[in-house]
Amino acid sequence: MSDENLQLKYTPTTCPYCGVGCGLNLVSQGNTLVGVEPYKRSPINEGKLCPKGATCWEVVQKPGRLTKPLIKKDGKFEESSWDEAIDLITKKFTEAHKQGGPKALGFHTSCRTVNEDCYALQKWARVAFQTNNVDNCARICHGPSVAGLSLSFGSGAATNPFEDVLNSDLIVMWGSNAVEAHPLAGRRVMQAKKKGIPVVVVDPRYSPTARLADKYIRFNPSTHIALANNMMYYIIKEGLEDKAFIAERTKGFDDLK
Ligand code: SF4
Repeated sequence: MSDENLQLKYTPTTCPYCGVGCGLNLVSQGNTLVGVEPYKRSPINEGKLCPKGATCWEVVQKPGRLTKPLIKKDGKFEESSWDEAIDLITKKFTEAHKQGGPKALGFHTSCRTVNEDCYALQKWARVAFQTNNVDNCARICHGPSVAGLSLSFGSGAATNPFEDVLNSDLIVMWGSNAVEAHPLAGRRVMQAKKKGIPVVVVDPRYSPTARLADKYIRFNPSTHIALANNMMYYIIKEGLEDKAFIAERTKGFDDLK
């Protein structure tokens, strides 16, 4: 092995596992991935990783990993070349389009697909097949939150930076098990708790996140709207609302009452 191939190379990138988007360095030697190292400049995770991020490199070179297309022939999957697979996809899509027109086709991307690839797929669907049947599986989990965020804050995405968790007066985690599902987001909540910020977890399940709460509120599944309405009713009835904030920054409060 030449000296060049013995050198370790650090490539900063983003953990592919969950929506927290932690920064990390992939470590390679020659053409082989050999590990992951912290990327301390990432403001999201400050060099920390959960076990999923710390081991994300291991699957890349696993012998069982699927790296070539498989085509089913006579009921059995057989390895094929990319050219053969792409030709088959083109043939099948063209046939379906000829028979049923644009509505006969639908295109769906994974939420692990990067923006650029999603863009390329929708372009292919709209331009080559004149169809608007394009979707992404993020709709299943993020669709309701986009609607809720847009109505509440005017934007279908987060409205403040991650570190604002540490500037809160109170943290309410409703139906979120961040400690397990998004561990580096859960870490921020733990930091906030250490700082003395009270944490309330509202969840039917006594999750690891609920275990760290100062107050845990359990409700029966499907009764969360009743619980939210009840809390609003109590706040208004007792006159506990922030009147100045409501007057300055919200609309429709009288309708809510
Ligand atoms: S919390 Fe864990 S899985 Fe999620 S992005 Fe960070 S390292 Fe990856």
